[in-house]
Amino acid sequence: MKEKYISIAIDGPAAAGKSTIAKGVADILGFTYVDTGAMYRAYTYYVLQRQVNPQDEVAVSRLKDEVNIDLNADGTILLNGEDVTKAIRLSDINQNVSYIASYKEVRLHLVAEQQKLAENKSVVMDGRDIGTYVLPNADVKIFLVADVKTRAIRRHEENLQKGITSKLEQIEKELKRRDEIDSGRAFAPLKKADDAVYLDSSSLNIEQVIAGVLEIINEKIGLEV
Ligand code: C5P
Repeated sequence: MKEKYISIAIDGPAAAGKSTIAKGVADILGFTYVDTGAMYRAYTYYVLQRQVNPQDEVAVSRLKDEVNIDLNADGTILLNGEDVTKAIRLSDINQNVSYIASYKEVRLHLVAEQQKLAENKSVVMDGRDIGTYVLPNADVKIFLVADVKTRAIRRHEENLQKGITSKLEQIEKELKRRDEIDSGRAFAPLKKADDAVYLDSSSLNIEQVIAGVLEIINEKIGLEV
């Protein structure tokens, strides 16, 4: 008999805490965490490395068969074997990733990989279109939001902790810009799935959000945690 794998989709705007929460929940449940944003970021890194214009949809899409991305269990991200874990979080990637993620051919290519990753294991997958497009039959869907000021401050502090140069106003501008492009694109935009549960983390700490997510999961599918 085919084993039933569970999938949990967490979507929401930039820097809402999706990856921290998704990873925390995956660790508690013993599921695999899949960071789909890292895949779009790694693709963008490759585009910039190859000096292709990020606004040139045809040229960017043409690169898809040259891009091999591995999401390792230890959280490192490999692009064609090169460790790009840190590089894909830098500002030049933030500024370009949403253009590249708006191209249908790029998305179809990465979505197919994401769906494969969820085929034979239980996953917590975070992104923008997981509940609406990548895993429309996910067992649990959560739409995680926070107001933009809170998100910018969190990301700024995270950067400083990691030793990444950071300017609060610039971060807020970048987040707003990315949200606009992600919500406005024609194909698989950032959008709450009708059957997703809305969770606002603005006034919650990480532990409280994780507890909230576990409660939603328990209510939906009765997972003992
Ligand atoms: O999640 P993260 O902020 O790292 O994602 C970076 C960018 O990748 C997003 O702003 C969005 O443009 C794109 N993305 C997407 N669909 C996903 C995940 C990320 O379009 N499922």
